[in-house]
Amino acid sequence: MNKYETLKYYFGYDKFRPMQEDIIDTILNKENVMCILATGGGKSLCFQVPGLMMEGLTIVITPLISLMCDQVKHLKEKGISAMYLNSTQRYSEQLEVLKCVRNNKIKFLYVAPEKFNNRMFIDAINDCVVSQITLDEAHCISVYGHDFRVDYANISKFLGFLSKRPVVSAFTATASQSVINDIKECCNVDFKIFKSTFDRPNLYYETIQSNDEIKDLKILLDKYSDEQVLVYCLTRRQTESLYYRLDKESYSLALYHGGLDSQTKSYYQDFFLSKKKKIMIATSSFGMGIDGVIRVVINMGFPMSLEDLSQQQGRAGRDNKESYCYMIYNMKDLYYNEYFINAVDDLALDKDTKKLVKKVKREKLREVIGYAQTKRCLHEYLVSHFGELYMSYCCKCSNCNRNTKTIDYIKEARLVVDTLKLTKEKYGTNIVSKIIVGSKENSIKEKYLNKIKTYNKSYHSINEIKNVISNMVSDGYLDKTYDEYPVLKLNENSDIIYRLEKYDIKK
Ligand SMILES: [Zn+2]
Repeated sequence: MNKYETLKYYFGYDKFRPMQEDIIDTILNKENVMCILATGGGKSLCFQVPGLMMEGLTIVITPLISLMCDQVKHLKEKGISAMYLNSTQRYSEQLEVLKCVRNNKIKFLYVAPEKFNNRMFIDAINDCVVSQITLDEAHCISVYGHDFRVDYANISKFLGFLSKRPVVSAFTATASQSVINDIKECCNVDFKIFKSTFDRPNLYYETIQSNDEIKDLKILLDKYSDEQVLVYCLTRRQTESLYYRLDKESYSLALYHGGLDSQTKSYYQDFFLSKKKKIMIATSSFGMGIDGVIRVVINMGFPMSLEDLSQQQGRAGRDNKESYCYMIYNMKDLYYNEYFINAVDDLALDKDTKKLVKKVKREKLREVIGYAQTKRCLHEYLVSHFGELYMSYCCKCSNCNRNTKTIDYIKEARLVVDTLKLTKEKYGTNIVSKIIVGSKENSIKEKYLNKIKTYNKSYHSINEIKNVISNMVSDGYLDKTYDEYPVLKLNENSDIIYRLEKYDIKK
């Protein structure tokens, strides 16, 4: 079968989407590819079609066990022989899988990266013909990615164990150059790079800073009561408490997170996708490979990275019809993000790597906070994060639609930087704002902060100064630690404030 016949026979499509065909031709030509594809870019076909056409086995390395099971199930439904191998299987099951591998009985084997060091696995695959190694979610290899996995770091060792090097295809939705370079280096492979566009013109984006997140959520749920709405929370506990809270008010709800047993998960998933339930409350583990028609995606709080955000929002409007993405947040939500950052301490990594991974996670989170607070076009903000240019006015985001009044706060912004310098970056938003507005509180006097040059230099209110500071943090001119007592820090961009003519902020 040629590629068109393969596509039609197994997948039922008449033609390829843009770029798919080029990627497939390159793989068939035995050239390694790295594909940077936005969610919904039809990634799986890019390695499955050539995998079916080439002689031998395609090994797909994927970090999520749940994803593995789903993919294998989908392939089997299409009549394609596929199996998976991971640590949740009994030893005897694993042996059975390896036996099928040795006997060339299967076309696709999905494995978790922890198998990279497993001698039995390596022996088995060296006994058979491997045509392709596919790295799914390849950014997990890189410490600079948003989702670094320790086991992935052994990839080059694993490739070295193979007696014959098959073609390598890598897939990710992360376009950052440092991640791409890192993947190349870690794999020690030369890749031909393919990159799709990241803009989704049928999506409307809105960010909502909220003092009552449940209330704002309910306004949206009522507005879209006829649609399928997907609500993302950061933690399992958040999904459950939101579920029970809304359940009392007779919303049509489904629930999904990694801690539920697989029966419960598929029960809720089926109910939601068959439209028997209108609202799905889930963690990020929901949605991989979901083709159902989701019209609205709402993020409660901050996802850990813009990659996560785009992936989750990207699940809306897969039919290319007008769809809506909201992010409802309160700065207090950062408490939950901090929990995930600190979880890095529990990983089996050395001290320096832990520090680096945490730093990367904080930077990624800062970009999300920036998205929440920016006054730039949200399409432009996202697309430029993925290294693309965007024409400046979209009409499809809250910032372009809302003709907000802005005020120039350049003087205050400079006062903030001055104050940090004069106080040696020891204080947080509250104290710095009090200094600038000339607070008469004892806490200021006791520390002699009323003696410094920037004391009482602005006629604006303390809340306005706080707003200036939070804008400066989200625009990247200042850093803020997110620990128990957050402190403001200068960074390499802080001095740019002195060169700006204006610093406009939404009123
Ligand atoms: Zn816009």
